[in-house]
Amino acid sequence: MKITEIEFGKLKMPLKTPFKTALRTIDCMEDVVIILHTDTGQRGFGSAPATALITGETHGSIIEAIRTVIMPAIVGEDVANLNRVVHLLQQSIVGNFSAKAAVEIALYDLFAQSFNAPLYRILGGGEPVISTDLTISVDYIDKMVKDALDAVARGFDALKIKVGKDLTLDIERVKAVYAAVGDKALIRLDANQGWTPKQTVSALRQLEEAGVELECIEQPVRGDDIEGMKYVTERVSTLVMADESSFGPREVIDLIRMRGADIINIKLMKTGGISNAVKIADIAAIYGVECMIGCMAETSIGVSAAAHVAVAKSTTITRIDLDSPSLAKVNPVIGGVTFDDAEIRISDAPGLGIESISELSMLKVG
Ligand code: MG
Repeated sequence: MKITEIEFGKLKMPLKTPFKTALRTIDCMEDVVIILHTDTGQRGFGSAPATALITGETHGSIIEAIRTVIMPAIVGEDVANLNRVVHLLQQSIVGNFSAKAAVEIALYDLFAQSFNAPLYRILGGGEPVISTDLTISVDYIDKMVKDALDAVARGFDALKIKVGKDLTLDIERVKAVYAAVGDKALIRLDANQGWTPKQTVSALRQLEEAGVELECIEQPVRGDDIEGMKYVTERVSTLVMADESSFGPREVIDLIRMRGADIINIKLMKTGGISNAVKIADIAAIYGVECMIGCMAETSIGVSAAAHVAVAKSTTITRIDLDSPSLAKVNPVIGGVTFDDAEIRISDAPGLGIESISELSMLKVG
């Protein structure tokens, strides 16, 4: 099965409600979708969102990196030699992790299709049903409490509360949500780099003293402030998770060895795809560190790939944050993985199992 050509499309999905973090507010998700063609007629699907503030990539940069650098490096290669093709892909360009991820997702889709098996089985198997948390956007306290109560009523037993806007108000937000649903759901905080190390220690101590039991605090300080992550990790009993501080396997080794985090948040768009996500899970397992698997605000193609990785690496990936498809008004992807509120279920279909994508507008590039 040789790689012949690629097609690009765009997929835009309005959200049920705006998604608000300390960094940004969005009301729709928009992905670059790629379709990787082969000489056998089989097609692999991949996707990537633009996250300029996190990976530095835009739709334009993703398309150009794939079209002018990554594709020329892998065209004509046989998908059967997956490791070789992944190596060529990863070596073809520095950075550009989401562009690499989109192509790797399509490659792994094709590789699993060639064995007529769902991707998670090719990655080592597992129970194809997982349970995701739900993100509660940063907002007025009453709105956050209402959203948290609604989420628990819909069956979510873990909530990720977005904070990081204003420290004093953030503490009140968390106390209010915890008072409303703390006995029914695990509460994770994600400050999206919004606090300083000292603010984080102060906030967590205040919350700990108020009896608020948090499952973990995600990326409280700037991603490049590894000393700050270490400072926080050493001083609070709440588990600290690295998100923007951790991209590829090398950063994960450094973070774990210097004890800059207790948990690693793996996202395919940061790792550059499935190969490095698997490596990170294996590295974390060596050190006895647990991982979360997360996603960007993105549609269900890339998130489906993440779900396959989560199932196959479930002994290390113990926390699932793949709620982005359920934040969209509809799921445009038919086949493969179903997202039903907290429950994510993978079918027996080969590869990612994608049959069709509605609302996909194909792009003419080049
Ligand atoms: Mg995060």
